[in-house]
Parts: sequence; C-alpha cells; structure tokens
Amino acid sequence: MHADPAADPGAVDPATTNPEPTGPATTDPEPIDLEPIDLEAEASVLDTADPLRGLRDRFVGSESSLVYFDGNSLGRPPRAAVERLATFATEEWGGRLIRGWDESWMQLPFVIGDRIGAAAIGAAAGQTVVGDSTTVLLYKVLRAAFDAQHAADPERVEIVVDRDNFPTDRYLVEGIAAERGGAVRWIDVDTASGVTAEALAAAVGPRTAVVLLSHVAYRSGYLADAAAFTRIAHDVGALIVWDLCHSAGSVPVRADEWGFDLAVGCTYKYLNGGPGSPAFAYVAAGLQGRLAQPIQGWMGTADVFAMGPQYRPADGLRRFLSGTPPIVGMLAMQDTLDLIDEAGIEAIRSKSIALTEFAVRVADALLAPLGVTVASPRDSTARGGHVTLSHPAMRAVTARLWTQDVIPDYRDPDGLRIGLSPLSTSFAEVLTGLRAVEEAVRAEV
Ligand SMILES: *Cc1c(COP(=O)(O)O)cnc(C)c1O
Repeated sequence: MHADPAADPGAVDPATTNPEPTGPATTDPEPIDLEPIDLEAEASVLDTADPLRGLRDRFVGSESSLVYFDGNSLGRPPRAAVERLATFATEEWGGRLIRGWDESWMQLPFVIGDRIGAAAIGAAAGQTVVGDSTTVLLYKVLRAAFDAQHAADPERVEIVVDRDNFPTDRYLVEGIAAERGGAVRWIDVDTASGVTAEALAAAVGPRTAVVLLSHVAYRSGYLADAAAFTRIAHDVGALIVWDLCHSAGSVPVRADEWGFDLAVGCTYKYLNGGPGSPAFAYVAAGLQGRLAQPIQGWMGTADVFAMGPQYRPADGLRRFLSGTPPIVGMLAMQDTLDLIDEAGIEAIRSKSIALTEFAVRVADALLAPLGVTVASPRDSTARGGHVTLSHPAMRAVTARLWTQDVIPDYRDPDGLRIGLSPLSTSFAEVLTGLRAVEEAVRAEV
C-alpha cells in the first residue's frame, strides 16, 4: 500500500521537527535547544523520574521484551492475581464450596463496587455494583432511565447518542428506541475528536429522555468534559448515562461531584480484571428507588432466598442485579484496585498524560515525516489514555507488528491505536514500540 503525500496535509517537514543550527552556535544563549532530539535519553529520563515505575513489575509479562499497546483493551494480569485465582480455586471454591455464597460471595458485587467507587470513579459507598457485561448493564440502566423519564413526561421520547460512540452503545440505543417506541437523536462528530458542548446542547431539549456518551472516546481518545455535559443534560431535564470503559482506572472520574445519574464501565481494560470480567454500574443514590431495570431476576429482589411468587425489587442498588454474580471474574480486578489505592488515581493520570505526550512527541519526530498523522486531540486535557495514529497502511502495519511482539490495535479508518496503561507501561516501551511502527510503515509503503 502506498501513501499519497498530497492527501496528507498533516505531514510535518522533518527539518521543522528536528531543527539544525543555522547561525553561529556561539551566539545562541541556549544551544541545547538546537541539539538533535535524543529520544532514548528522553525516555530514560522520563522512566527514572516516574514515581510509578516500580509498579510495572507487578504485572505478568513485564519482564519480556514484548511491547504492549493494548492495555486499554485487555489489561495485563497483575502478578498478585495469579496467586489469588489459585487460592480461590483451592481454598474458597474447593474448600468452602456452597458455603462461600453466605460467607462472602453474595456481598462481593457490592464490596468491589464500593472499592471501584472509592479508587476510580469518585462515588460514595452504596452506588456502584459489579454485575453483567458492559453491554447488558448499559441496556439495563439505559432502559430504566428511558422508562422513568417517559413515564414522568410522555413527550420525552428521544435518546441522544453520537454516531462515533462504541458500536454496542449505538446498537443498544437503537434497540431500546425500537422496543419502547422512542427515537434516536444522533450527534455527528469528528472521528479524530468527539462530542462538543455545542453539539450536545443543540441535540438535547424537552423531548430528550436520556443521553448516552462515552467519557473517553474509544477511537480518538477524546476526553469529554463530563461535569459540563452532565449539566447540559440536566438543564433540559434529561438524564445522562456515562460510559466509563476507557476512563475507569486511567482518567479520574468524580461521579458524585459532577452530578452523574448513571454510569457503566468495563473492568477488563484499565482495571485488569481479565478477559470477560464483569462490568460495574453506578446509580446515584437518589435515583435508585425510582428506576426499574428490565431484567427482573431473583438476585435483584429484596429477599433473595424468600423465592416468593412475585418479583419485588430490592430498595437499593441490589435491584440492578439479575442473576448469579460472576464471582470468578471479580477476582483479578481486586489486585488492580490495590495498586490504584497504592498509586492514587491522580498520580496515575499524571503518568498517563506524560505517556501520551511522549507518544505524540515521538510520533511527530519519527512518523510524521512518513505521512502518519495524530488522530487524537493534541491537548492532553482533552485526551484520555490512548493515542490513535493514522495512515493508509495501518491495517497492514498492525498485522506486521503483531508478528514482531509489538501489540497495538487497529481501528477504522486507518487508525493504529496506541493504548498506554499507566501502571504497566514504561516510556522506553513506548519508544521501542513506535520505532517498530516506523519500520513497519516504511516496509508497507
Ligand atoms: C470496551 C467497550 C465496551 C465493551 O462492552 P462489552 O459488553 O464488555 O463487550 C462498551 N462500550 C465501550 C465504550 C467500550 O470501550
């Protein structure tokens, strides 16, 4: 595949990126600025200064030379989780058998939910619960929100969502609108950024029942101003559901302070819960009793073992559960929550910003001359934990890199997504990986 340089206005002249001295060096007060960029030295300085550098070794695989740019999609396993899983199998499951439910498992969705609330999403206790997959939990809270809003005001029939939201989010909105006689109100967005305040304000109004937005856009990494957008929804009487999949564990969320109604997030991404680990839902305390979710199961009832003739939802958060909680899937994430408690979510965000800034800087230096552009916000305050690099060859580049143990992922159109999990990624790893991207792009054009 060949890049058409004319089609790439973002290409940077290497001379601009890496300027050479033009005048007599002796007259320049800061000659250091005119030295060629030494990226290896920069990576080394950044790694040495990184207060979280010691935490990388707490993850399985950190000792290998593999470059992992997909911790935003499936986080590496914490080493402590290996031990926890084994002990669980022999002692808890094997030893306690069915007594385990009474002794601890029944409470685990709430215990871990509270830990996620405290460590990652700024939620006071009693509002966060671990449940089903993200897709199923989103369905439950979105439909509950739509039904409550529509019942209170029959004019409220619209669900607002953007055209570049994650597929499951868009499909759920379409399904719920069809099922409940509602309508979808789409927001158009730039795929290299995301929903703006103006676009949201233009889409919502007295017909809006509920808004569904991603806090960090899965494609571009665009970080929405969740506090401001929540106010925009509330100002027109709408409820808002936040998808926290690409922020939980990487970008601090202040669910209570920002006035969230509802939120759902993944635990197998930055919370390293393992493949298919269950999602969490946040339901603001004041809303819990007003919402009825559609998957009425025995685990959501006030008295689970009464096994009564009718479904009577529990008063609080329990009503958002449906069936038997997936306990095995809740084990590994507890070790990541320990690490987040140890590091602090603000320090994690600082490292995340430093990692993505370094990635953008390296991309500008090494890849822009080849026609690669940054398809993510350049302002770190508007960017989450990943950076997307765009070039027509990226699909082939991704396939080539995977055979070389450099693991980013590919997202249409032409996007190489570099996910930089702050707890388990080093600056040296970023540079090694992007040098491999440079070679792969050269090989593919
Ligand atoms: C990863 C992701 C999902 C995944 O949903 P699952 O039900 O776990 O497959 C949903 N929404 C967003 C925004 C995501 O990034």
